[in-house]
Amino acid sequence: MKRFFKNAFFYILIAFISFALVASQAITRHMVMANIQNTANCLIAPSVDDRNLIINCTNLPQRVISPTPNLPPIPNPNLTDKERFLAAITGHLPTIPAPNTFEYILLRAYGAVFINQKPEIKLPPKVVFNNEQETKQFQSTLTLSKVNGTSNCYLQKSAADALNIAMQVQIPLKSGYGASDCTRSFATNLRFWQKYANRNTLEQVQLGKETKILGVVAPPGTSQHLWGLAVDLRVSNEVQKQALNKNGWYRTVEYDTLHWTYVGLPPERLTQFGFQNKVVGGINYWITPL
Ligand SMILES: [Zn+2]
Repeated sequence: MKRFFKNAFFYILIAFISFALVASQAITRHMVMANIQNTANCLIAPSVDDRNLIINCTNLPQRVISPTPNLPPIPNPNLTDKERFLAAITGHLPTIPAPNTFEYILLRAYGAVFINQKPEIKLPPKVVFNNEQETKQFQSTLTLSKVNGTSNCYLQKSAADALNIAMQVQIPLKSGYGASDCTRSFATNLRFWQKYANRNTLEQVQLGKETKILGVVAPPGTSQHLWGLAVDLRVSNEVQKQALNKNGWYRTVEYDTLHWTYVGLPPERLTQFGFQNKVVGGINYWITPL
């Protein structure tokens, strides 16, 4: 009988130890899984702001935070602005136009969008669409999303999401509500051009003899508005401007004070990618270094 109790005690002890081991393994596994989940959440943090990313990742070990994998790599700082810009857009545009061509002039004026490093952003395959059909074909590949508080202002989803965050500070559209401030058709681009310019103006632009018109209106088939990455806004104070910049939106077309482009980079990264700051009439533009 004494031997029976001794054996029973032994088996209970073994069972208890086994249970304790399994339980501790389960707890460890749960903690590891929770950490992996946190890491995943950190990596997909939809923000162009380094500070936001760090806030989202404060519960992670330092080795996960640095380097921040969802931010694009910085181009070689030993290169010139132009070289860094071109290096960063290579692969985003199938053919980089040769200097002094019409396409190069357009890339210089409207090419800020090609710096966008976000994989979900769709960039046009060239800087000029020849007609409505080419424009529609590209636009049919876009995932568009409506800008909050507007009736029919649509932009590429990432651009709209970033603008909606910025618009927590109230920023009115140029027209107050309309589609023409956002993604446009080829026909609308052409109509605006014909309002301010003509065939002769286009020839002068193509020859590189006229550039100022590019800040007033885009030649047919070349507007950033065709790509779902631009919006016309009435920005009247520094708070609005900073909210836009912080969310990747900038003035990139010289003289066009109402026009904002989705670049998708935080302000401190613009110069790293070759952008040059130019102040015209007290307005800050971030222009391409071409
Ligand atoms: Zn515009």
